[in-house]
Amino acid sequence: MRVLITGASSGIGEKMAERFAEKGYDLLLVARRENLLKDIKYRIENATGVNVDYMAYDITENPYAVYEYCKDNRYRISVLVNNAGFGDYGKFIDGDIDKFKKMIDLNNKALVELTYYFIKDMKDDHYGHIINTGSVASFMPGPYMAVYYATKAFVMSFSMALREELKKDGIKVSVLCPAPTKSEFWETANGETSFVYKNIFARTTDNAADTAMKMFDENKAYAIDGLPYKIAIAFVRHMPIEMCTRVMGFVQSKTKKKRG
Ligand code: NAP
Repeated sequence: MRVLITGASSGIGEKMAERFAEKGYDLLLVARRENLLKDIKYRIENATGVNVDYMAYDITENPYAVYEYCKDNRYRISVLVNNAGFGDYGKFIDGDIDKFKKMIDLNNKALVELTYYFIKDMKDDHYGHIINTGSVASFMPGPYMAVYYATKAFVMSFSMALREELKKDGIKVSVLCPAPTKSEFWETANGETSFVYKNIFARTTDNAADTAMKMFDENKAYAIDGLPYKIAIAFVRHMPIEMCTRVMGFVQSKTKKKRG
């Protein structure tokens, strides 16, 4: 049984790779930075004895190439973790349209395409689990990260619909919803989260990976990482959308732009 994890060269994806290897799964790790993937491969193989392969590739270029790589190597993927993603902090009007397009291509288009290719084989096997990395952002609009929040809402909507469609085929679909987590994400997003996120309610990549594995083991539809965030989302979901957006506008305005 092999698990394919995108965005496995750092952060939450790397930790999920470690967790699946500890369970005895072989791995295919996908991300762009080959040096990091290579180090992770040898570290995990030495620690666990599973087979770890990697594909250093920008999955926005042609997601089908990842499927082809699996076919060429006779890898049958039983768990697909669509985890690669990034955000961008700042006002939409001041943002870079090419960065927004790339974000949609990665967070949504590549995720949809990879899911489409791999579920056909999973259907034949009557077994498969898709884990999509959403976010607490999946549950609300996010001023100052408008495109990112919208991409994560897409992930939740798409995944829940598929979960319903695929349940008779033996394929499970779950969404991991990390809260603000210490990782390279915030560097890429050009944002520095507020004191409260960074210090009081700080989440780690280990926390997120543990939540992901519990969700996987129990076949939950989605899992929000961290009790304070579970409570916050429960409130948010009962608020009128305009009020929720205003609250999020205030919260997000406390994030500092790192550059520019
Ligand atoms: P991260 O350390 O920046 O991880 C992002 C991963 O995606 C890296 O491995 C990166 O590797 C890969 N990636 C980026 N662009 C890619 C591309 N075009 N093709 C292939 N791989 C690509 O951040 P993280 O926190 O672990 O984020 C993982 C997921 O969690 C993302 O979907 C993010 O939206 C979500 N999330 C994060 C937070 C948070 O606060 N950290 C909160 C909620 C949700 P390369 O650079 O080597 O390609």
